[in-house]
Amino acid sequence: MSDLHTLSVAKLIEGLQSKQFSSVELTNHFLQRIDTFDKQINSFITVTKEQALEQAKSADKQLAEGDKRPLLGVPMAHKDIFCTQGVLTTCGSKMLHNFVAPYDATIVKNINEAGAVCLGKLNMDEFAMGSDNESSHYGAVHNPWDLHRVPGGSSGGSASAVSAGFVPFATGSDTGGSIRQPASFCGLTGIKPTYGRVSRFGMIAYASSLDQAGTFGRSAEDCAYLLQPMAGHDPRDATSINKEVPDYVQALQQAGQQASGNDKPLAGLRIGIAKEYFGAGLNADVEKQVKSALKQYEDLGATIVEVHITDPEITLATYYMLAPAEASSNLSRFDGVRFGYRCENPKDLHDLYTRSRSEGFGDEVQRRILMGTYALSAGYFDAYYVKAQKVRRLIVNDFNKAFEQCDVIASPTAPTTAYPLNTAVDPITMYLGDVYTIAVNLAGLPAISMPAGLSDEGLPVGLQLIGKHWDEEKLLSTAHIFQQHTDYHTLLSGIAKQEA
Ligand code: GLN
Repeated sequence: MSDLHTLSVAKLIEGLQSKQFSSVELTNHFLQRIDTFDKQINSFITVTKEQALEQAKSADKQLAEGDKRPLLGVPMAHKDIFCTQGVLTTCGSKMLHNFVAPYDATIVKNINEAGAVCLGKLNMDEFAMGSDNESSHYGAVHNPWDLHRVPGGSSGGSASAVSAGFVPFATGSDTGGSIRQPASFCGLTGIKPTYGRVSRFGMIAYASSLDQAGTFGRSAEDCAYLLQPMAGHDPRDATSINKEVPDYVQALQQAGQQASGNDKPLAGLRIGIAKEYFGAGLNADVEKQVKSALKQYEDLGATIVEVHITDPEITLATYYMLAPAEASSNLSRFDGVRFGYRCENPKDLHDLYTRSRSEGFGDEVQRRILMGTYALSAGYFDAYYVKAQKVRRLIVNDFNKAFEQCDVIASPTAPTTAYPLNTAVDPITMYLGDVYTIAVNLAGLPAISMPAGLSDEGLPVGLQLIGKHWDEEKLLSTAHIFQQHTDYHTLLSGIAKQEA
């Protein structure tokens, strides 16, 4: 079968369990596609071909013995921010160009134990800082819908790989939008769970109070399959929460079944719309598509209510104060002594620190370290860092108030569609692209981005739904019902349409 990469995860599981194809066949199908097309996309930093085929062989044995674990034998790949034992883990940086992780991140271990087959490690903005995947030491990633455009970032490799049909689903991380924005640029569904839902152990830190791992898939259902083994308490991450994990897949499928045959399956759902998220800077084409998707939500029974949330300009300033502050602290460990790249022939200790960090980190990372160090330095700490923390609390309060009137809040995921590579946008313009996604991280909320059709230029547009804390189940089910009644999520990128 040459179209295996277009099947849903549920169909892949069914095919594996009923022996229509083996995991080795499936793995080879995807590896072949990577081999043929990734030269044009650059989504993988490392392809772990031999290891993947070993895993697939053993999955086939277990399938033959009647093992029913849902992900058994299903291929996937990880953003290169997750430590993978014995496999290069670069975080997109020269700083870690030769770092072979000595252990697995908890989510890597969990996904392995669920039986999935890992095909390799995916490209990303250096240390997850960026929105276009152009800051990677391993080169820019190209968007499978239009190779001259960016895939979004920082999880650009993850989004491109799923969108090109190299893997059915992939992991990503989201500190300020890095799952949702590339999902929107590449025509995918992506979910960023509640802060604390998924362990951060073994996920290289950018801004620890905002970072959260999540998933990319073509549909909400595909995302749910991969999120299932990732979610849950981890004693090795003090910020992971000990709270029961619902069966996302079952909940979503049940919601879908109840919805079928009902012409108002979303009756009772109150969707909050904030005019703050439809203001200046929003591309007209994106606005048109998002509004028409919201109209479809209304047709399915949802009601729209107006809510107020914090002005995105305030949120943006708060994020770009706090995230660099945390990053400057987290990245201090990469000094060429304890961790990371070491420069050649240092003159003395000072030279070693300075050159290792100047040569090992790229421009964007150095810019953030400078901003963060400034905000944390004595004399500025109260004026900037402490003030931003106080504003963060007000942002949370605004969300809490908004959620008294609605169940989810809808917005565009990003103000634009994917823009051309090397547009050489200045950093501030790039930061503005995060306006609709970052408040979610500051408040620790879950949010999902789903395809909402194409712009006049034929580029994907994303619709974001923000949920209350721990409402992943509601977000996934709501998106699933929408996807049962629409076909935006089934549209394929140019590369996915081609056979390898
Ligand atoms: N674009 C945002 C930033 O550069 C978000 C990145 C992310 O979510 N990792 O900080």
